[in-house]
Amino acid sequence: MEGRIHSVQSLGAVDGPGLRYVIFTQGCPLRCKCCHNPDTWAFGEGEQVTPQELAKRALRFRPYWKNGGGVTVTGGEPLSQPDFVAALFSILRAEGVHTALDTSGAGDLAAARRVLEQTSLVLADLKSPTEEGYREFCGGSLAHTLDFLRLTEEMGIPLWVRHVVIPGVTDSAGSLAAIHRMAHGFSNLEKIEWLPFKTLCLEKYGRMGIPFPLEGTPALEADALQKTLQKLGLWDR
Ligand code: SF4
Repeated sequence: MEGRIHSVQSLGAVDGPGLRYVIFTQGCPLRCKCCHNPDTWAFGEGEQVTPQELAKRALRFRPYWKNGGGVTVTGGEPLSQPDFVAALFSILRAEGVHTALDTSGAGDLAAARRVLEQTSLVLADLKSPTEEGYREFCGGSLAHTLDFLRLTEEMGIPLWVRHVVIPGVTDSAGSLAAIHRMAHGFSNLEKIEWLPFKTLCLEKYGRMGIPFPLEGTPALEADALQKTLQKLGLWDR
């Protein structure tokens, strides 16, 4: 069996606990307006690799995986290649490695279950608190995402919910409060990661010759976002 990956980051510090080997899979069914990785969208591109070979590459970095570190698979959408990711995680877990799945939750839930059986931590994007917002913002479904989150809860897998806060799009007090409420509805929630909108990907869109849907939207400073959330009583830490 082979999967398709876009790239790897040998030592990532922002996708799960500790230092991690981060694998970006190729192919995504969604089109989030704030996506930083449009080069991972196309299916059928990227490097083909077996789970065994990829695990071997990752394990070379094992000495750095202190403080809960390990391997994160992100995308693209990892659940678009469920058997590949499940096989990779299974090899890593047999070696005692912490595995994190960074996902939108899109895709077949029976297949997702096979991946979750090998997953130590789920980092799940909650993109909008409404079905309409989901359709408009990324072409996905809130109802499906909540079904996926319920599955992680039923399986007892620790959950970090991630939400990108975009000025003028997802930053209203009502929207932020709804995301906070939804995330805290899951008993397996460990934390919410509020991600301030950034514009670093503009250049990538330019190079690829595709318009960035949020062009002109200002980036958000992490400090300003924290202050807003604290004022609203939504800052958990
Ligand atoms: S799910 Fe991730 S990779 Fe896919 S479009 Fe959204 S942000 Fe981009």
